[in-house]
Amino acid sequence: MSTLTVKEAKSLRFTTMDVDPQATPGFKGDKAAIEKNAEKVDAELRELQEKLYANARSGDNPGSVLIVLQGMDTSGKGGVVKHTLDPLDPQGVHIASFGKPTEEELAHDFLWRVEKQLPAQGKIAIFDRSHYEDVIVHRVHQLSSPEEIERRYGAINDFEARLVKSGTRVIKVFLHISRKFQKENLLERLEDPEKYWKYNPGDVDERARWDDYMEAYRIAFERTDTDAAPWYIVPSDNKPYARLVVKMLLLDVLRSMNLDWPAPDFDVARELERVKNS
Ligand code: AMP
Ligand code: MG
Repeated sequence: MSTLTVKEAKSLRFTTMDVDPQATPGFKGDKAAIEKNAEKVDAELRELQEKLYANARSGDNPGSVLIVLQGMDTSGKGGVVKHTLDPLDPQGVHIASFGKPTEEELAHDFLWRVEKQLPAQGKIAIFDRSHYEDVIVHRVHQLSSPEEIERRYGAINDFEARLVKSGTRVIKVFLHISRKFQKENLLERLEDPEKYWKYNPGDVDERARWDDYMEAYRIAFERTDTDAAPWYIVPSDNKPYARLVVKMLLLDVLRSMNLDWPAPDFDVARELERVKNS
């Protein structure tokens, strides 16, 4: 099991959070083995993404992909964004981060700011936090009424079902870390001047509500795990493992799109002649 397979990555589709964040299901190997795996995956991801992008550039509608990342502070969302997109052509990717809403965003429905960031045809978008904050942090801090939060689970399911119907594949990932691991990560940020910029004193206040967050996540997964837009709960205390899993999930989706190189809309033989004679 020093090679993680797509099947094993997909078995992380859990609707419970009982998985041990330190575990590496489907994989027994060290960091070097993970990197070796990732290299192979990267090569295939690169080719499939180029095909996806090429099809859109040729005027077809190959669809698009959206990866939604959620996780507690220090769970490695930034690292997953970086490593997943690293092998890809930047022209074909789109990154959006969702922090505290602005005044303007607050004046609209919670999905307004999300819709603006959806991937165009041929693109792979990755969300660092998402519309799920509007049911997670809103539940924990009672920023919305229970009735409104209840309404939102349904609105999210409708929204994602529409997205999928219009050709966007949706992968939802929860980077599941342990409370202990978060503490280690926060301490690390305070011990290294090069990491101060990553430290946010507010993270310690959120950390105090750990159990409330886990409960909010548990409910959100129960309410919004659908076949169209499934949730994957990825044990993430081992960051290289978590990054590899996300790549595998993306690989699986790209493979399922049956992508091919776009056919030319010109006569190749004739164009060859023209260029040679030019
Ligand atoms: P970070 O991703 O660590 O830079 O932090 C972003 C912060 O914005 C987190 O504390 C989120 O919980 C918060 N946030 C994101 N979306 C919302 C939202 N819709 N309402 C309230 N807070 C949010
Ligand atoms: Mg943070």
